[in-house]
This record gives sequence, C-alpha cells and structure tokens, in this order.
Amino acid sequence: MSTLAERYESVSAEVAEAISACGRAQSEVELIVISKNHGAELVRELHALGQRHFGENRDQEAKPKAEETSDLPGLVWHFVGQLQSNKTKSALSYTSVLHSIDRASLVSSLKRELQGRPGRLGGFIQLNLTDDPGRGGIEPKHLSEFASSVLELESFDLLGVMGVAALDRDPRIDFETIASASAELQRLEPKARFISAGMSHDFRQAIEFGATHLRIGTAITGKRNL
Ligand SMILES: *Cc1c(COP(=O)(O)O)cnc(C)c1O
Repeated sequence: MSTLAERYESVSAEVAEAISACGRAQSEVELIVISKNHGAELVRELHALGQRHFGENRDQEAKPKAEETSDLPGLVWHFVGQLQSNKTKSALSYTSVLHSIDRASLVSSLKRELQGRPGRLGGFIQLNLTDDPGRGGIEPKHLSEFASSVLELESFDLLGVMGVAALDRDPRIDFETIASASAELQRLEPKARFISAGMSHDFRQAIEFGATHLRIGTAITGKRNL
C-alpha cells in the first residue's frame, strides 16, 4: 500500500517526465488534483506537500470543503463537473476556474451572477466528444458560435477548451479532436490557448497533444472514500 505522499510524488514525477519527453516546458502544464470523494484532510496534506490547485465536480461537496480549507494560503479551486444553473452562485463563491461551460443556459446564469462580481472568473468550454448530441458539452462543429456568446461575459476570461476522452477507445483520437477545436477557438480568441484534458489513466497522451491543465484524481488520491 502506497501513501498519499508517495502517490503524489510519483504522479508528479511521471507528469514531469511526460512533459520533457515531448519537448515541452514544465511551466506550460498545471496539475490539478481532483479531491472529490475525499475530505478536507486530503487537501491539507497535499497543500503541505506544495500542491495549490484542486478540483471538484459537485457544489454540495465542494463548498463546505473550500470553507474548511479557507485558511490555507494560495489554494485555487477549479470546478470540473456539470454545474446546475441554480448552483452557479454558490460555486462562484469559491471557484477560480470553471472547466465545464457546456450549454447556453449555463452561460445565461453566468451572465447574471458575474454582473458586479469582484475579481475575474476563468473558464473552459467543455466539448462533447461522443456521437450523442444529447450528452453534455458543445459539439465541435458548434464551438465558434457558442464561444462568441461566452466571450461576451463580463469579468470573465475564456481560457480554452476542455474534454473528457472516451474510455472505450484510444484517448489520442479524442485528444486530437480537442487540439483541433483549440486551434479553431484561437482563431476567434488568441488568448484562449489552454487545454484542460488528461486524467489518471490518460494524462501522458493528453500531454503529447498539448494539454495545459491536467485533472488527476484517483492516481493520486487513491480509492474514494466518502
Ligand atoms: C473525477 C474527474 C476527474 C479525475 O478523474 P480520475 O480518473 O480519478 O483521475 C477529471 N475530470 C473530471 C471532469 C472528473 O469528474
């Protein structure tokens, strides 16, 4: 059985090695530890090891955890799950970066909640990489049109695109789709050059395809226990 510190060090080393292997700079890639299903203690322990970026996918769990750890200097919270419109206000109280802008109704609630909000929110447009238009996320063919509406938000920086690769095929297929969507988005907004992709099982391939924000949970946190 490995400890949390051992897993954190070993995944961090693997990430660093994968970045070097494709000739990229370490500073281009941010590791976000997805702390869902684990308590505030895990966040404290990783913070003591130097980790600052954490991600959550449910507001009900994230909000109390962010409150319990608000004494930790430099913590940055990322929201990576589907955000219900009625939870937008709550999530914006602690979230710095929203990775899952996936539908027009969320843009409408962001528009309301960002008005007069101090500071800026960063965000990614989540792509639908499946063949099923009913699944969450924006189909790549609708990206530019959707991005135009997102770019009108106040106090908001569009950072780029986000995707979750399918489990039943080579993740490189989806990472390639994400990379071309990113290139298209950058023609519309050159600053939106970041890519949120790569999880426990596919971060090496995501790094090869230009991922800048890795969302890694279980490989570091171990079995979920909440
Ligand atoms: C849970 C989650 C992750 C982390 O997944 P692991 O396989 O545990 O690394 C990444 N992204 C999203 C959107 C998630 O919900």
